[in-house]
Amino acid sequence: MTGTAPDDGCPVPDEDLVECGRVSRRYRAGSAVVLAVDEVDCWVSPGMRVALTGPSGSGKSTLLHLMAGLVQPTSGRVSWPMIGGSPADRLGTVAVVFQGQSLLPELDVAENVGLPLLFAGEPAESAAVRAAEMLRRVGIEELAAKLPEELSGGQAQRVALARALVTRPRLILADEPTGQLDRATGSHVISVLREAALEFDAGLVVATHDQAVAERFSPRWRMSNGRLLAPDDVGDSPKCSAGVRR
Ligand code: ADP
Ligand code: MG
Repeated sequence: MTGTAPDDGCPVPDEDLVECGRVSRRYRAGSAVVLAVDEVDCWVSPGMRVALTGPSGSGKSTLLHLMAGLVQPTSGRVSWPMIGGSPADRLGTVAVVFQGQSLLPELDVAENVGLPLLFAGEPAESAAVRAAEMLRRVGIEELAAKLPEELSGGQAQRVALARALVTRPRLILADEPTGQLDRATGSHVISVLREAALEFDAGLVVATHDQAVAERFSPRWRMSNGRLLAPDDVGDSPKCSAGVRR
């Protein structure tokens, strides 16, 4: 426990997958400074299904990367109480579906999907079996032998999804995972994410521009100019609500 009063409706940090405490991240762009994430105070625990919405440039990707330990805060603190260390110390426990191109160009699809298992110490043979299973689950087994350059944007996005889920992560952070997909395929991808999160007893955060996607989630967090606005649709405590501290 890290000092949260027991009766204020706020969660016990020990039971959270990730905790962001007044986290900010600045970037220098020439002479200007951009505050991409501004004093965000939030958490994700197992079972949470969060949609992260907000206009382009509001800080959604930066917040996901902070939660994944890929970007360091310039102030504040990110911790992973239930992971038992940082994501880099516990490979495979926290997974990101990246917004842009993220596949390794020299590896075929099956090798790309199996790679996180190899990094986590799994033998090559069982990594290949599990990668093939995950490709089937995402519905793209016919792509296994293709190279990333042979894929459409939407196909690459689904390969990135399979790669993120293959380690059975406890915290799944998906950055616009339906951005390049038609509605039916996008809807299937969201179902795959939700089913995986249920099976892995995971927390799931999906950044999205798509209102129809956001509506399948609760809570819905909204970012604006780096700030995370407390959701107004759920309010269980004056101090915190649905994963956001006020
Ligand atoms: P979103 O995902 O909501 O579009 P981002 O987190 O990508 O927002 O970006 C938030 C702000 O931070 C934007 O102004 C963006 O230009 C800036 N930013 C993000 N990453 C970097 C970076 N690596 N270097 C400089 N500025 C960045
Ligand atoms: Mg983004």
